[in-house]
Amino acid sequence: MELIIDNLSKTYSNGIKALQNISLEIPKGMFGLLGPNGAGKSTLMRTIATLQEADSGSISLGDIDVLKQKNELRQVLGYLPQQFGLYPKISAEVLLNHFAVLKGIANKSERQELVKALLHKTNLYEVRKQNLKGYSGGMKQRFGIAQALLNNPKLLIVDEPTAGLDPVERNRFYNVLSELGEHTVVILSTHIVDDVKELCTNMAIINQGQVCLKGNPLQIIEDLKGKVYKKTIEKPELEAYKQNYQVISEKLFLGKPTIHILRDENPGDGFSSINADLEDVYFSQIFSHTNSKSI
Ligand code: ADP
Repeated sequence: MELIIDNLSKTYSNGIKALQNISLEIPKGMFGLLGPNGAGKSTLMRTIATLQEADSGSISLGDIDVLKQKNELRQVLGYLPQQFGLYPKISAEVLLNHFAVLKGIANKSERQELVKALLHKTNLYEVRKQNLKGYSGGMKQRFGIAQALLNNPKLLIVDEPTAGLDPVERNRFYNVLSELGEHTVVILSTHIVDDVKELCTNMAIINQGQVCLKGNPLQIIEDLKGKVYKKTIEKPELEAYKQNYQVISEKLFLGKPTIHILRDENPGDGFSSINADLEDVYFSQIFSHTNSKSI
């Protein structure tokens, strides 16, 4: 089972081209869709989840023509949207059971077993009797995954799931997600590079509605080997460096900016070569893509 997106485009009525000829082949496993805010990730996720229409292009999941057979797709879809409402004065166990009824799981003991299994899977079993009101951001997100898994989906879409989570909660969330890729196409949409680095076997970077890179994260990092250089500079020098070099990222380290630049060979000038990581790939892609469009 594979999700195939072919030449998908969407322009909103205000003229914003949110998706421009997006083509992606997404196999079973964890797929990371990485891009800055406004890149078009949610538009793409909502279109795949049959919640909004595209202008042109097609999407298929196995035999299902997603844009035409919306009901068929919904039966095999699990979706955790960016924001979802929860009834606060109800326990996780009761609410999950309620959602299971809504999904048509009529047999009571079958439903109880499923709810129990999903609470275990998402590490919420110990807190199943607590009202959702008292849940942390991470617990709520894990509850979101539990409800998205009720129909044993073949396609699971998770939109910006770790935004606002602290590092411990983020890790817990990763652990829950990482088990799901074996039998399912899981699409994780995020602007957080670490999410993809930790979890995904395939990925794409999108910017301004276009795919700028796709492939296997390790291979993509390998392709940037020997092309990233680093230097710690003084703050007032930053603008001059930006004029002279392709500065792909800047970070403060002990109060001083450390810059990473993209270059085919070492420019000297105090720069040292570093092993590129996925963050360098991401920033270099966004840098090149944004600049090539503004010229
Ligand atoms: P992301 O999820 O990557 O942040 P979105 O898909 O939400 O990106 O948005 C892509 C672009 O489309 C942005 O410029 C956004 O402002 C615009 N956009 C999103 N939804 C709408 C809408 N309903 N009407 C008009 N413009 C929209």
